[in-house]
Parts: sequence; C-alpha cells; structure tokens
Amino acid sequence: MSEPTAPIARPPEDAQTRRAIAPVICYPVESLPKPDMAFFARVRAGMTRFSQTVVPAREGRTFLVPAGHVFRISCTQGPQVGDLNLFNAENPEERFYSGKTRALHGTHLRTGDRMWSGFPYLRPMATMIADTLAWYGTDAHGGRVHDVIGTRCDPYTHHLLSGGGQYHQCCHSNLTRALVDRGFDKAAAEGLVHDVLNVFMCTGFTADTGQYFMKASPVRPGDYVDFFAEIDLMGALSACPGGDCSTTHSSDEAQCHPLLVEVFEPAEGALQGWQAAPVNGYDGSHGL
Ligand SMILES: [Zn+2]
Repeated sequence: MSEPTAPIARPPEDAQTRRAIAPVICYPVESLPKPDMAFFARVRAGMTRFSQTVVPAREGRTFLVPAGHVFRISCTQGPQVGDLNLFNAENPEERFYSGKTRALHGTHLRTGDRMWSGFPYLRPMATMIADTLAWYGTDAHGGRVHDVIGTRCDPYTHHLLSGGGQYHQCCHSNLTRALVDRGFDKAAAEGLVHDVLNVFMCTGFTADTGQYFMKASPVRPGDYVDFFAEIDLMGALSACPGGDCSTTHSSDEAQCHPLLVEVFEPAEGALQGWQAAPVNGYDGSHGL
C-alpha cells in the first residue's frame, strides 16, 4: 500500500477569474449611529480632571470611569505601548470584544471607532474621540497604530516559544495582578483578562506570509488618546514589557516607561440629551 500523498493544489483554468472577484465588506457599519464628533468636541472642551492613575513600567493598574466621562491614556516619559482591557464596572462579565470590534471597524482603531462588548451585550463601551497619533495613518510596511489583533503578550505563548521560559511581567499577568489588587481572586481574575486594544502599538501583517508584525511605536511623550465612556467602566491597563515594541517583548530586555491614565469629568450640561447605550436587543432565543 502506498503512502497517502498530499493533494497537489494545481490552479484551475479559471483561477485568475476567481481571484479577480471584488471583495465586499463583511460588516458595513453605515447602519450604526454615526459618532457625533461635535458632541464629543463639546465634552472635551469643558472637561476637568476627575482622577489619575500612573501605570508603572511592566505593571498593570485598574481605573474607574463613570459613564459620560472621558479617559485619556498618555505617554509621559518615553515610547511605550499599553494593553487595555475594559469591563462594565457593575458586571465584569460584560467586557471588551476585540474580535468583533476588529470585524466592525478594522484591524486598527481610529477616532470615531467604538470598543464593543461581547455577547449577549454587544454595545459600545467606549468611543475613541481624540488621538494625537492620527497623523500616522498607514506606513510603507502596512503598519498602523492602536491594533485589535495582537491579543496581549502572555506567559503561556512565551513558555512555548522560548523553550520553557517562565516570565511574570507579560501583559496577561500584569492585568491579572491588577484585577487581584482590585479584589478579584486569582483564578477569577485570570479568567476575566481578555484580548486587548494595543494602545500606541504599531503593527500589521507581512505582505508575503501574512504574519503579525510589530515595529517601534511612533508615540512620544505628550501623545495621548482619549475615549468617551459609553457606560460605567472599569479599565485595566498594562505597560507592556515590550516598551515601544521595536524588538522584543516577554522579557526585561526592552526599555520600558510608565503610562498615565487620567479621567475627566464633562462640564455641567455637556451631556444634555446623551444616553448610555442599552444592551443589545436580540431576544436571545436562538430559535429554540
Ligand atoms: Zn504586552
């Protein structure tokens, strides 16, 4: 009996025709309410600082943001990327859904894009309303900033790829410790950590192999990104051990810096007419 052989993937005669079919957008977002940027500009114009949290290098911290407030993540001392998790402050089961956010808005978030929660809630948790790195656009390598593709650095993948390494300052662990500091027990905390928004990180996919790449973040001290809280939020942010992610992560080799989170309260009356998004209206019966 001969060994089974792998099928030979010969292109069919109409290969070019099949390849030439134009793509369609999977999830056109035109039917969603448009972000009211004039409203957000008014909110930002009169806001005052409500609280601040310093996230030390290679550590994670949590912070609370009341609905209708703005939170700002700033680079203060040197190029540094941050891994952001978001939770409903009253219900940690409702948390950021990176995959659906990516499917709706694309691989990297821009001003006006929303951070969506998972099923069965699926509603906007936060809207990006200002970004000093908006000038970066797409570079010659296909790199962009603020991705929702990279999941988070974690000690399990590091263990696999490093031949058994044990490293405890990956974003996954930093976020877990931050949740434990907030009062969650260790097992529950780790289970609540989820795929992140990579704030300030510059990433893309290689053109030839389609692999996830990172390169030095263009962020510099003074840069920031602002988010409007669409519901009461608890955020968790890790200052990634990759620093600016120009070379490596999951080790103490990269130069790392702290990040600053500030929460701002809008001026009185600025939220007039605004309402927090209701949870998703699907009836949940699934045809049963
Ligand atoms: Zn990381």
